[in-house]
Amino acid sequence: MKYFIKTFGCQQNKADSERISAAFKARGMKQARGYSDADYVIINTCMIRESAENRVYGLVNNLAKLKSNGKQLKIIVTGCMVGLAFRDKTGKYLQKVRRSMPAVDEFMPIEEVGFDNPPVRQDRENAWVPISNGCNNFCTFCVVPFTRGREISRSFKDIIAECLHLKLKGYKNITLLGQNVNSYGADLLLPSSVIPNKVRDLATEGSAKITYFQNAKLSTNFKPVYVKHLGRYRIPTLFPYLLEEVAEMGFKKVDFISSNPWDFSDQLIDVIARNKNITRTIHLPVQSGDDKVLRRMNRWYTRNEYLKLVANLKLKIKNLELTTDIIVGFCGESDEEFNNTVKLVNEVGFNKAYISMYSSRPMTAATKVLKDDIPHEVKKHRWQILENSINKYQYN
Ligand code: SF4
Repeated sequence: MKYFIKTFGCQQNKADSERISAAFKARGMKQARGYSDADYVIINTCMIRESAENRVYGLVNNLAKLKSNGKQLKIIVTGCMVGLAFRDKTGKYLQKVRRSMPAVDEFMPIEEVGFDNPPVRQDRENAWVPISNGCNNFCTFCVVPFTRGREISRSFKDIIAECLHLKLKGYKNITLLGQNVNSYGADLLLPSSVIPNKVRDLATEGSAKITYFQNAKLSTNFKPVYVKHLGRYRIPTLFPYLLEEVAEMGFKKVDFISSNPWDFSDQLIDVIARNKNITRTIHLPVQSGDDKVLRRMNRWYTRNEYLKLVANLKLKIKNLELTTDIIVGFCGESDEEFNNTVKLVNEVGFNKAYISMYSSRPMTAATKVLKDDIPHEVKKHRWQILENSINKYQYN
């Protein structure tokens, strides 16, 4: 029996596919070269934008034709679309995907694929290491908290053990992965009752009883790191310790993605500054340069706080390159609000930006309570302005 995995979306999905591959190998199957010689096709889906979902529907349709022409094939769909389908309590999204893809044999939640088997890695030099999954932030435009659920951190020891194993195997470059990589560890430190659904409900450093965290070498106690934004303390995190411990293993390069501006502590900046093998290209999604838009997005920093963080990074880290994510045409974005983003972009001087036109995603707060009221032509025009300014691409 042979299996073939088609992966859509981000690095986290690609890392998940390496674990899926391990699970199928453990069942005694071999990897197929393509769809035609596969007995099982596993589609690892993304739904960050509608276009990503549509590509999945298109692929399943094509596979359905192979099946109706007599090919023996099992189609398994997993990833973000399935995550959302099983988390949507109304059951409507599950009905929709079942109706739209009748040829699918199984909808498999990604949680069913554990970390028990070592991932099947295609690359011999670069390795992705997932450190957390899910997100508690609920940015109003983002479907991730619904597709992947609340943030769960992998055990510190397991991550260290996996990285040490990769070092022994000769891997040169490591990328630590999580939706909000620099909030790693909050759930390891706080009882689950303290982890809020919405970050804004968190109170101050003294409000939760924090037990110090004993590190993987069983020698040091960590004091969790707090960051303060908009006058409130964020969750405690262990990411600076984890990153430094991985960096000290001696990899050529240690990368991490994706970090959130409001969990970027001074301690984290210091760890990067003193470990030369940690990436100098930092991805710091800003999404908008306007405070009112950031509020509507439920992003818990202001334009000035972001700029202060950038200034601090530039001051302490030599040869720094900054990349970012920006959404144009978010609900109600006025010309003035967009111009504040343009001004911020000019001020920061990003090396690269992933710019997207806002598109409404199921279950998100923006879809439920805000209006997707910016015409497509305006979104396209704003996208082009930022592309010209940062990436110098032309819209076709
Ligand atoms: S931080 Fe916001 S944008 Fe990033 S995954 Fe979480 S909800 Fe989505």
